[in-house]
Amino acid sequence: MSTLQEAKNTMYTNGSGARKVTSSKDITQIFGSNVFNDKVMKERLPKEIYKALRKTIEQGSPLTLEVANVVANEMKDWAIEKGASHYTHWFQPLTGITAEKHDSFIAPNSDGTVIMEFSGKQLIQGEPDASSFPSGGLRATFEARGYTAWDCTSPAFLKEDSTGYVTLCIPTAFCSYTGEALDKKTPLLRSMEAVSKQAVRVLRALGNKTATRVTATVGPEQEYFLIAKKFYDQRIDLISSGRTLFGAPAPKGQELEDQYFGSIKDNISRFMRDLDLELWKMGVTAKTKHNEVAPAQYELAPIFSTTNIAADHNQLVMETMQKVALRHDLVCLLHEKPFMGVNGSGKHNNWSLGTDDGQNLLEPGKTPHDNEQFLVFVSAVIKAVDVHADLMRAAAANTGNDLRLGANEAPPAIISVFMGSELSSILENLAGGKKAESVGQHFLNIGADSLPALPKDNTDRNRTSPFAFTGNKFEFRMVPSSISISGANTVLNTITAEALDEVATRLEKAKDVNKEAAAIVKEFIKEHGRVIFNGNNYSAEWVKEAKRRGLPNISSMVEALESLAKPGTAKLFEKYKVLSKGELHSRYEIYLEKYGKDINIEAKSAIEMVNRQYIPAVIAYTGELAKTIASIKAAGGKSLVQKAILAEVTALLTSAAKKVAVLETLTEKAQGIADAHARAVSFRDKVVPAYNTLRTDIDALEKIVPSSQWPVPSYAEMLFKS
Ligand code: ADP
Ligand code: MG
Repeated sequence: MSTLQEAKNTMYTNGSGARKVTSSKDITQIFGSNVFNDKVMKERLPKEIYKALRKTIEQGSPLTLEVANVVANEMKDWAIEKGASHYTHWFQPLTGITAEKHDSFIAPNSDGTVIMEFSGKQLIQGEPDASSFPSGGLRATFEARGYTAWDCTSPAFLKEDSTGYVTLCIPTAFCSYTGEALDKKTPLLRSMEAVSKQAVRVLRALGNKTATRVTATVGPEQEYFLIAKKFYDQRIDLISSGRTLFGAPAPKGQELEDQYFGSIKDNISRFMRDLDLELWKMGVTAKTKHNEVAPAQYELAPIFSTTNIAADHNQLVMETMQKVALRHDLVCLLHEKPFMGVNGSGKHNNWSLGTDDGQNLLEPGKTPHDNEQFLVFVSAVIKAVDVHADLMRAAAANTGNDLRLGANEAPPAIISVFMGSELSSILENLAGGKKAESVGQHFLNIGADSLPALPKDNTDRNRTSPFAFTGNKFEFRMVPSSISISGANTVLNTITAEALDEVATRLEKAKDVNKEAAAIVKEFIKEHGRVIFNGNNYSAEWVKEAKRRGLPNISSMVEALESLAKPGTAKLFEKYKVLSKGELHSRYEIYLEKYGKDINIEAKSAIEMVNRQYIPAVIAYTGELAKTIASIKAAGGKSLVQKAILAEVTALLTSAAKKVAVLETLTEKAQGIADAHARAVSFRDKVVPAYNTLRTDIDALEKIVPSSQWPVPSYAEMLFKS
């Protein structure tokens, strides 16, 4: 039996079927079994070809067609052995999800038979029709051709569905005929280059002779909800917009704090096991899983990897969660705020910089030299975040996150950095030109001879910070749960590249490098230390204090996107060759449009539910009440309670009917606005409040109308009976 077959036998086919528990030995066999990874390449490719490909992967040297042809052929044979019939260039257009078009390997012979074929050209380049993907004006529709190009730094893999259909997926970048990036991956790869180049310059200037590449590493923790499919199917709002637009709170929420890290229910555990196996096969290092804070909420964290692989894998995680959930009669909700009144979901984007000579540049080291290096890199990141807080905020913006950020469950809309008290005081002292004291009364003073190690355990116990230093990495905690992490990391890499560029230029010119390094740290912290905040980010005082410090507080996505339209932003991205002016502007347009479309869908879903589900149900109930009252009267009795309920229900019904009419008018008006920005503003300021106030009436009605007559499943059912 092949490993794959064995792996399949150990898989759960559905939520209730007989199961064989996968042994740990099986797992080592299963892991990466669907990946054309280094091991497979080494085994299958001729030595010279393997070497040439490694050179391309590691150093970015161009791949000749001759090499590509051999690689493609081997890849195809390997894929076919594992059951694949098709291949696809797998890419990440600006919709934020992944795209794929499947082509079979068949090529006709003249005698009516076929052979299975896959050429080097087909491997390295594809030409999908680009006309139906958002381009934000980059590509006129008549110029519909788009190109996908193999990103050989992210390995090819096989995707299997539950029917046994297997596809060879080739991770690619997607660009227009004229070479403009139409996707999320291209700028991400460019930003990785930018930060590597500048970080290596800094390392050289500090005396490092071995490092030739610096890689931005990322480990994204993914939060999600699971609810029973039978409930989901009855909710138009969940189906069309991914969140509930109505719903009275359940009698119990998350106040008992009994869900977080609680024992995992059997049906969920089955799902998680199945999910782990599917991800492991594709080489995704699913590591940690647990219950999250809200009822029906969970988290999965992988082991970190290079930024582009982490981004690819996170897309696979989201996609696989949704697919596997269905096999268990569950639906996976990735929306940032599926339920009002309980915590929503986000992604904690753990980010650091690693060198090819084995160092983590954000690791506070053990030697004086490391201290210097660490302090230089950390203060560069602090400067970058302070200078470009608005870009970080924009990178964390999507329609769903407008409901979360600053709502006492997620970081506020103010960007700040948590450094922990000890590191903060070291940095403050350095900025003030004082001796910096570290734990154990050691003194720290860059440039001197006998320096102690920096305190290592700075583990963060402050969970409210949007950007927290957690020992040897930063954790960006504002990233939305449902979208690609590419945008956030493109920004992080690029703004860090800019700060490191400045550091490198100064160090390269300095006569005394240690002195200059100390001066840079001192200056950066003095000028940008205002962004450091170790207190409670959820508190009202912080909002005031941040204002006093001059830190931006950007509450909505529309406002956040404005930073993409600033000339300074275009200059930054152009300078580091991450995005051209046109590419940047296209993103601004696309995201604004997306916001308008999202709100439009929510408004239309709300209108549909109110007109066709809630109002008819309430009318039926008032009819019953009226009949009851009439028959009680005929029998000579009094019906005070019934009358009071009827009056209350009727008042709410009347109000809701009026509000839904207003919502319809406002939605139509907003839709008719031609300018994308003005349209988005109208959706935000007119349409959103209109459906929010409509919700108040409907939720009040839900509390009165008998549950048997309520047309959709309640919060209590979805959150506690899934
Ligand atoms: P917590 O829940 O405490 O925030 P987790 O252990 O769930 O932390 O997740 C931490 C994440 O950080 C993991 O994905 C881990 O692989 C990742 N991580 C650890 N070291 C690095 C690093 N050097 N660069 C990027 N990510 C890292
Ligand atoms: Mg975390």
